[in-house]
Amino acid sequence: MNDRPQQVLKEVFGYKDFRPRQREIIEHLVSGGDALVVMPTAGGKSLCYQIPSIIRPGVGIVVSPLISLMEDQVGALRQSGVRASYLNSTLNAGEAFSVEERFVKNELDLLYVAPERLLTPRFIELMEKSEIALFAIDEAHCVSQWGHDFRRDYLELNILHERFPEVPRVALTATADEVTRREIAQRLGLEGAKVVVTGFNRPNIRYSITEKTKPREQLINFIEESHRGEAGIVYCLTRKKVEAIAGWLVEKGFKALPYHAGLPAEVRRANQERFLKEDGVIMVATIAFGMGIDKPDVRFVVHLDMPKSIEAYYQETGRAGRDGLPSEAWMTYGLQDIFMLKQMIDSSGLGEERKAMETRRLDALVGLSETTECRRRVILKYFGETFPGKCGNCDTCIEPVETWDATVPAQKALSCVYRTGQRFGAAHLVNVLLGKETGRIKMLGHGRLTTFGIGMELDAGGWRSVFRQLVAGGFLSLDIGGFGSLKLTKDAWPVLRGEKRLFLREDKSGERGDKVEEKKERKGRRGRRTEKGENTGLAEALKRLTRGLAEAAGVLPHHILDDFAIKEMARYLPADLSGMRRITGMGEHKLERYGESFLEIIREHKRLAEELTETIAETVDLFRLGLVPERIATERGLGERSIYNHLATAIEKGVLKLRDVLDIQDKEVLNIKNAFLVQPGGGGGGGGGWKMALKPAYDSLGGAYTYEVLQCVRSDLLRERRG
Ligand code: ADP
Ligand code: ZN
Repeated sequence: MNDRPQQVLKEVFGYKDFRPRQREIIEHLVSGGDALVVMPTAGGKSLCYQIPSIIRPGVGIVVSPLISLMEDQVGALRQSGVRASYLNSTLNAGEAFSVEERFVKNELDLLYVAPERLLTPRFIELMEKSEIALFAIDEAHCVSQWGHDFRRDYLELNILHERFPEVPRVALTATADEVTRREIAQRLGLEGAKVVVTGFNRPNIRYSITEKTKPREQLINFIEESHRGEAGIVYCLTRKKVEAIAGWLVEKGFKALPYHAGLPAEVRRANQERFLKEDGVIMVATIAFGMGIDKPDVRFVVHLDMPKSIEAYYQETGRAGRDGLPSEAWMTYGLQDIFMLKQMIDSSGLGEERKAMETRRLDALVGLSETTECRRRVILKYFGETFPGKCGNCDTCIEPVETWDATVPAQKALSCVYRTGQRFGAAHLVNVLLGKETGRIKMLGHGRLTTFGIGMELDAGGWRSVFRQLVAGGFLSLDIGGFGSLKLTKDAWPVLRGEKRLFLREDKSGERGDKVEEKKERKGRRGRRTEKGENTGLAEALKRLTRGLAEAAGVLPHHILDDFAIKEMARYLPADLSGMRRITGMGEHKLERYGESFLEIIREHKRLAEELTETIAETVDLFRLGLVPERIATERGLGERSIYNHLATAIEKGVLKLRDVLDIQDKEVLNIKNAFLVQPGGGGGGGGGWKMALKPAYDSLGGAYTYEVLQCVRSDLLRERRG
């Protein structure tokens, strides 16, 4: 077998198969060719340059603009036994010098360098003295002057090509758009490079977009319903809102932290670190957060406010589910979002052409939000990709959107806009349609209009939905200068004149009444997401070990193993090192270092499971991790009584000690035991048939102890009696 890439994939990284196109990129680079790689976030770009750097003689130089990403990758690589280092502003002179020395002596496989440092005469001189395996230019879209991440230093990277023409180069990006791609090739002198563009689909992410009604409650429902205790990001438009939402979540008992550019650098760093290291932290953030965050187990990304384009939406939601496990992207939006964003474009100081382009981008996202088609299909189409059929993993696929003939209500709404002089926003118009005698309506004399009170067939939420969809559909325009007043467009007239019928989507979360039952049903259908055959107690124990090992090694837990690997272990229960070798991500280096520690926990769990039934063993696992019975009950979706039954059985079998479970004094224990022993026909008489019923003991103790306590003590008594 002389398949070096495959061998490195397995032995170093612990993966069985290449992802689509990885192999061809790697082989092309190994043989000295240049490449331009466009793959979605989490598509597996890093391996494309890491493996060739390991295989080719010399050091692979990776240009990366993000310090956190460098540190993350180097941390992970070292855990796999790869000789990786970085050079950036966080190192002091001495540290930097020793890294440089290892570089020149060819003692590294990979060296990550910030672009500004790479371009210094000093570093170029070092490179000339060294052997270089390849240049990888990560986040290559940073050369694009139109993009949001433009970096001036990136423009100068084409000197690499001039100075080191024989060294292969690979540029990588997740930015899909065709214009940016051409710009990268041209600016980096990669016109002759092999271009590899993979599909952009992220099948494990579920997309849902819903009308904004009561955003805070909607948010809490979303988290409670399907993501309790999981890590997620909640994006908000403004710093103020970030603070408010983070505070509110904390108040409601969630582990939430704020992140925005206005916070002191130390606070930002500390919050980011907690997000990466701890379990189940919710980061409430502006878009200042996320670039270069490589956390694999982000289970959900929420947009409480709408981003400005499908590109931004896709990039931000793409931070969910890097580990490939099921994850969710959920957004709420309303008319006020469109208004805010249009206002931002308007006051941006950009040229007219650019403003028009930004407006088109925003409109495309509004279109995605209002679509009745499969969301994934619409997103991928935007990136020039055809997704065949329906994905089955977005809100419109899971619950097809109903449309209704809204021609008459639309006419009423449009005519109300017209009659009030095209000078008012949706809130006021809704009041007119519903015939509300507000102060404003009285003052303006709008109670006398023919459209006053003609809209009783819908409630306020229903009307808001109609106005929103009329804006999204281009029948009404939002006047930015006029504080969000609505104006008719030329497309409105055919509807008003009755020449065009209009179908609108039925909003699910809207307040059109009668939806409560349906919602309950939906909730039931979603159910718990734990897969069959998975053991949460054991998985928790393995996770805890991972955290402990990470802390000892001074790295992040996912550098050792990610959740995907942990779940695999908890499902397949490897018995020895060779079984362990089959776990995804368990390369030789990690196997040698950590394999035995993981096996120990698995063996202990198996021993328990043999002694007890699987379900009791599971409860005991969780109990040993320090979870209180109530928590175990919710975690497992069982009643608290069952949990105590499990614990009592474990006490009886001697797996747990009574003292571990109950926090009561020896004197009290004796007292309770006595209450059992003195029962007529009880153990005390020594005769046959032990009864030891709970109720008489409860009564004779005057109800001083709960049944759960009595049950545990009784189990202890039974254990003693059996000897
Ligand atoms: P990105 O394209 O965003 O740089 P990464 O290179 O970080 O993505 O890869 C995303 C995740 O997928 C990482 O956890 C990585 O280890 C994993 N991965 C990449 N290639 C493979 C593979 N062939 N088999 C299994 N996991 C892989
Ligand atoms: Zn779909």
